[in-house]
Amino acid sequence: MSPIVYAIPVFLFTVLVEGWILSRRGAYDLRDALSSLNLGILSQLTGAGAKLLSLGVYAIVYESARIATWPQGSLMAALAALVLYDFCYYWAHRMGHEVAVLWAAHVVHHSSECFNLSTALRQTSSGVVLSWVFYLPMAMLGVPPTTFVVVGLIDLLYQYWVHTELVGRLGWIDRVLVTPSNHRVHHGQNDYCLDRNYGGILIIWDRLFGTFVDERPGETIIYGVRKPLHAYNPIWGNLHVYADLIGESVRTQGLKDKLAVWFGPPGGGGRAGTPWSPATFARYGVETSIALRRYVIAQYAIGNLALVAFLVQLGAMGRFEALAWGVFIASSLLTQGGLLEGAAWARAAETVRLALFAAVALAPRVMGVALVTPWRIAWVIVSAASLAVLWRMRAGPKVLLRASEPAT
Ligand SMILES: [Zn+2]
Ligand SMILES: [Zn+2]
Repeated sequence: MSPIVYAIPVFLFTVLVEGWILSRRGAYDLRDALSSLNLGILSQLTGAGAKLLSLGVYAIVYESARIATWPQGSLMAALAALVLYDFCYYWAHRMGHEVAVLWAAHVVHHSSECFNLSTALRQTSSGVVLSWVFYLPMAMLGVPPTTFVVVGLIDLLYQYWVHTELVGRLGWIDRVLVTPSNHRVHHGQNDYCLDRNYGGILIIWDRLFGTFVDERPGETIIYGVRKPLHAYNPIWGNLHVYADLIGESVRTQGLKDKLAVWFGPPGGGGRAGTPWSPATFARYGVETSIALRRYVIAQYAIGNLALVAFLVQLGAMGRFEALAWGVFIASSLLTQGGLLEGAAWARAAETVRLALFAAVALAPRVMGVALVTPWRIAWVIVSAASLAVLWRMRAGPKVLLRASEPAT
């Protein structure tokens, strides 16, 4: 079972507290946060299978090609492994910005035009397909797979807290560790922010390899990418740069140039390369009713419970049921994205999804568990109540918000 399951309550509690503080200041975009959280659910869903695959490759390299064997259970060895992992992470992350096909995966983390704890959970669903290559030196150096998994998790969890504007500058710490100050720069699209501060735990790597820049106190950071996503759809959020690359490589003549589209630096779809000015920047936002936002929050909570149940019960389910649940949870993220965008198809699709959800309550076993009757009744009531709320809501018109405008 993914250890992330244990971190989910901490993530949600802290996202809520930060969201409450920022909302009181009129500086929280709930739709963006929900979109980020849904992208996080999707990445956990796809990661459940893909991580096993990449870990399998790591274990094979460790067993067959390692040049040394690291001691197990030694604190010093674990610390050294953490530093080594962080070094590999720096390069994986840097290549994620400098190589187009890797950027197509990593862009998900950067497509929010806000910067808060929910942004940390906005993770790619396709990154694991290629990023494992950067960690194979650890397997060859003999870091055991269990140590690799633990230090990888520590590195990932550390990066959560740095996604906030509530923590200011921290003096010398900003020049040693990755901190909110230097990570804000990493998410900025201002000229001085582009392709800077790639570190995971240590920012020292950036200072060593020439990619460090300090936050400029007098210059407001504008977050996001220069070719904006302008969507809440989590599937499109994962695919839009791949679609650009396919289009670009079809238009490009000659194999060498076609390969350059994929393996060269990101072009117009990258963070640089698109004409941009802070004066003309308009932050994406769709006007939504309070009822709709509440509805999506409620469905997000149900989706999160379904994800936790999915991750806990993965071993108890057959392959077909696991796949069906994966598709079902992903489809709920898609319809919620559509509802937030005010898409014409979203209400009908959500209706079908809720009807299917209600029908699942009749199945003899759900995720490997035989449900008792009160649970089945509650399940149907939740589905019916969701349906009733869904059809009482009015759809909101689509508008773009200015960066200076407080989001609601
Ligand atoms: Zn990045
Ligand atoms: Zn980040």
